[in-house]
Amino acid sequence: MKYTYTFSEGNKSMRNILGGKGANLAEMTNLGLPVPSGFTVSTAACHEFQENHGILSDQLVQEIDASLAHLSHLAAKEFGSVTNPLLLSVRSGAAISMPGMMDTILNIGLNDQSVAALAQLTKNERFAYDSYRRLLAMFGNVVYEIPEATFDDVLTDIKHQRNYQSDLELTVADLKEIVAKFKKIYETTDVKAFPQDPHDQVLAAVQAVFSSWNNHRAKIYRRENNIPESLGTAVNIQEMVFGNIGENSGTGVAFTRNPASGTKALFGEYLLNAQGEDVVSGIRTPQPISTLADSMPHVYDQLAGIAEKLEQHYRDMQDVEFTIENGQLFMLQARDGKRTPAAAVKIAVDQVKEHLITEEAALLRVKPEAVGTMLHPEFDHTALFDHPVLTTGLPASPGAATGQVYFTAETAKAAHDEQHQQVILVRQDTSPEDIEGMVVSEAIVTARGGMTSHAAVVARGMGATGVVGAHELHVDYAKNQATINDQTLHEGDWLSVDGTTGHLYLGQMATSDATINDDLQQLLTWAKAHASMGVYTNADTPADFERALSFDADGIGLTRTEHMFFKPERLLQMRRLIIATDATGRKDPLEKLLAMQQTDFYELYKLAAGKSVTIRLLDPPLHEFLPHDPEEIAEVAEQINTTPAALQTRVDSLKELNPMLGHRGDRLAVTYPDIYQMQVQAIMNAVLKLHNEGITVAPHIMIPLTDTQKEMAWVRQLVTDQIDKSMTNQSWNLDYTVGTMMEMPRACVTADQVAESSDFFSFGTNDLTQLTFGYSRDDVGAFLPEYLAKGLLPADPFQTVDIDGVGALMQIAVDRGRQTKPQLPIGVCGEVGGDPASINFFEKIGVTYVSCSPFRVPVARLAAAQAHL
Ligand code: PEP
Ligand code: MG
Repeated sequence: MKYTYTFSEGNKSMRNILGGKGANLAEMTNLGLPVPSGFTVSTAACHEFQENHGILSDQLVQEIDASLAHLSHLAAKEFGSVTNPLLLSVRSGAAISMPGMMDTILNIGLNDQSVAALAQLTKNERFAYDSYRRLLAMFGNVVYEIPEATFDDVLTDIKHQRNYQSDLELTVADLKEIVAKFKKIYETTDVKAFPQDPHDQVLAAVQAVFSSWNNHRAKIYRRENNIPESLGTAVNIQEMVFGNIGENSGTGVAFTRNPASGTKALFGEYLLNAQGEDVVSGIRTPQPISTLADSMPHVYDQLAGIAEKLEQHYRDMQDVEFTIENGQLFMLQARDGKRTPAAAVKIAVDQVKEHLITEEAALLRVKPEAVGTMLHPEFDHTALFDHPVLTTGLPASPGAATGQVYFTAETAKAAHDEQHQQVILVRQDTSPEDIEGMVVSEAIVTARGGMTSHAAVVARGMGATGVVGAHELHVDYAKNQATINDQTLHEGDWLSVDGTTGHLYLGQMATSDATINDDLQQLLTWAKAHASMGVYTNADTPADFERALSFDADGIGLTRTEHMFFKPERLLQMRRLIIATDATGRKDPLEKLLAMQQTDFYELYKLAAGKSVTIRLLDPPLHEFLPHDPEEIAEVAEQINTTPAALQTRVDSLKELNPMLGHRGDRLAVTYPDIYQMQVQAIMNAVLKLHNEGITVAPHIMIPLTDTQKEMAWVRQLVTDQIDKSMTNQSWNLDYTVGTMMEMPRACVTADQVAESSDFFSFGTNDLTQLTFGYSRDDVGAFLPEYLAKGLLPADPFQTVDIDGVGALMQIAVDRGRQTKPQLPIGVCGEVGGDPASINFFEKIGVTYVSCSPFRVPVARLAAAQAHL
């Protein structure tokens, strides 16, 4: 097996072997772009290294030596030479991009002698020593794990002593002193000295990159982003080009489109006289790329041309890194750029209009969950008007977030995990070590850094709100507080962050609902056209339904009628109904409830404007409606004209040990038929009223908790008799269906029989999961987190369908149901109906539609399209 590949040997399809960075460097080389020469050590070498317990094999070392000799030849320099040294960058790159998670070492090849040669060759001593001090710090940090701060402190001390504002003011003498001090750090820290042999440096660097695959922050990033541990990383070894030679040199990052808004324009930042990480680390605030058009117009034009070429080639927005060495442009990286959900949607839609990609490709570009985050609220406009802006930074990642501020990743994480607080991480700048705190934060705010700083990139990647470079903000870690002009922010204070404008506000601000913008509307229209499953909503009120309709729901897949009874005047009637011991006692409350339910259904049908509405008859245990503590009992007894003692006796008689397995669902219909009769009559009264108004409705009535065919047939008869009664004097034919909620395992395995009495099925996966696992859906919180943490379950089965167990029952129900009725419509209306991974499975087993909460409708719509493509 071969372990190293020169850039001209690779291409973009070799991601798994060369990593994303290596594959794209190869692709750019082959496109004829100005890429410094280099080679990639493959991920296979990383696997071998891990298996060898951290030792580089002889074959690999030989291949690296041969590749270095070849590279020296191409560069007309010599690796290891002290007179004409070839200097290298060593950078990691896994198949899936992991920004900031892995490590980079620049200027490999420098030592006490070659630094002098470099100074002489370039006639730039300052540059040579600046490069050497960077190598010492990066090598020490990456290879020997000496904390970055140990080196930073030396630099800060010297700048402080000399009263410098910026690194650029450091003189040759300062840099030499820094180099000496950095070497001392190696001696005083309990590690080996800095290796003077460039060959040792490069091998140690490769080893460190391979080992860094398993460092803590890389592992967290992989866990958060579901990146498999088994991928491994490649290492890219490349001839150095220098952005730190002087004011005619620099380094930067650019996106071919704006990663926050998606607008088509070159977007990015650069720093003159700087190297590598300076731009993204937030140490100096970089210049916007547009100013490069003035300072170096030919470089800007070349960069813009390359950006265009890359987009045409990759057919997606690219994120590039570049270096300018003495006015000459070099490309160091290209990859698909991370973007906000709003930008992802806009770019996908724009690129279809530009004939760059197809509608199908656009649909696959956007993660369904990203659509969900786009529907999150914005700050209420009146609240914005009332609150003075505290300060403004760069709008790094849009959204509106409020939370309590914390100044370290650890405290933010603790407040979130232990006190369940909504937290906002406020820092001078962030580094990859802060990742755990960033993951739990509603928003990330930094005082320093630009739009491509670590904080900005990570916030956008996570869909968290982000404001960076708020330079009036100063975080004092020692005092655990921050100041903004004369205001002080203490730990735990509330802050509101607007990532769209960059404004910060003190306190907790109200938010208002977001709307679907034109681009998202377009994408969802394509999604509807490309999906086979329908997307309905679970809605119990006209307000829910209206929202879902504004998200283009196909109708209502589930109305939980019991939710309509929780208003005070209805609760009273419901209680009278339950407490009554016979049909006579139930008559009056049923009549009152009938009038109310009729209005409910009328409103829903009217809003539906022809779309289908499925109404589920009463489901929950009766005791949910009853008063429980003595005070409440006394109050209710008075309301319904009975004594507390009599009420208490009735309540006791209705008590169940397992209410969720008890007297609920269609079992209520079997014991109290008049309740379902009342509900059907209410539906029919609404239908007839609308018919008189010229609107014809086909009611869909759903029976919960069915176990057996006989039971379903009995309840169905009850329903149809009531419908027939309502239609006696009508001279037209009503179209209607009566279906079964498939939520009992027994009903699933006997679905062929149940289908005989059902016009449709709808999976109630909440109860089906509860009964399949034997997990009480209301009590799982006590143990489920442990199961997830210990890896005993891959996901919460109430959120993402358990394919092997619950899914298998669903498959049986679909197959057997359709044995009886080949065209049987089958829906899913439990919580997993809005979950993209579950939707993918439902498509496979032939589910006809899903139904989910209003905000999930657009998410489910895109997931349904993706499942079908
Ligand atoms: C279900 O069980 O999945 C369902 C939709 O019904 P409910 O959540 O009301 O029990
Ligand atoms: Mg249920």
